[in-house]
Amino acid sequence: MTDQQDMERPTFSSGATFLDAPSGDRSAPVCILGVPMDWATTNRSGARDGPHAIRRASRLLIDGDHPVFRTNPNGLGLSDLGDVPVMIGDIAESHRRIEQAASGLAHLCALGGDHSISLPLLRAAAKQHGPLGLVHFDAHTDTWPENFGQSLAHGTPFFHAMEEGLIDPNRSVQIGIRAPMGAHLMDKAEATGLSIRSADWVHENGAKAVAALIDEVTGGGPSYLSFDVDSLDPAFAPGTGTPEMGGLTSWQVRKVFTLLQSVQFVGMDVVEVAPAYDHAEITSLAAATVVWDYLARQAAQGQERGA
Ligand code: MN
Ligand code: MN
Repeated sequence: MTDQQDMERPTFSSGATFLDAPSGDRSAPVCILGVPMDWATTNRSGARDGPHAIRRASRLLIDGDHPVFRTNPNGLGLSDLGDVPVMIGDIAESHRRIEQAASGLAHLCALGGDHSISLPLLRAAAKQHGPLGLVHFDAHTDTWPENFGQSLAHGTPFFHAMEEGLIDPNRSVQIGIRAPMGAHLMDKAEATGLSIRSADWVHENGAKAVAALIDEVTGGGPSYLSFDVDSLDPAFAPGTGTPEMGGLTSWQVRKVFTLLQSVQFVGMDVVEVAPAYDHAEITSLAAATVVWDYLARQAAQGQERGA
């Protein structure tokens, strides 16, 4: 970023796209896609407004380079494709449309939306890359076979992703888990080979251990990041549908991103931002910053490869 670009216009008068990126180019190296659905939630709804809130909060991140990676995500060639035309009340049809919108893109960052959207996003990504490693931040494992009889609810995407072979559980790690769950279901999830670490484990062991674990488990193969904002403590992310006490801090998560080494991400989503419960854009800014950190790291990796 040049001094001239720094001065062009104030951040608050920027465009309506994520990071003020150009829009509508599906052939861009990195695409942003909003997924405004929340009819798969089990508790408080409201994540349909997540994409717009995250885009709005991202305006605070456009006036300079990343302080650690020293890169600018816009240098990757971003394009914001707008929102998927989901069908209200119909989870399966919405998932079909999400998979279609996500298919054939070089690299996708999706802004949710409830966590059920990760299933069609993973279907699209696995079609391209084969079974993926999963790096999943969440208070919940989301490996329930169904929630209250609904098999496509937001607590089920990774059950189906394993059943369908979209992710390789032995290359997958869940971080920040702390919600109530049947012990037999937790045993089942662990028996698949998934590495599951509680929020308590993160507090005991710190960001370095989390980053090392992610590198070790994913093993350098193609991997997907799914970031449920409720992995953060409600103090750092009040605007979400299923908050759980004792979660990660926003600085812990940012620290993890700067410490990652070998993990190779092929796409990501950030989900469960419900702006109606938010205060002072804390949650949407946390979500926007996760995507910004992710993209800044991608840009740094690209520079290394080019060097
Ligand atoms: Mn989740
Ligand atoms: Mn969750």
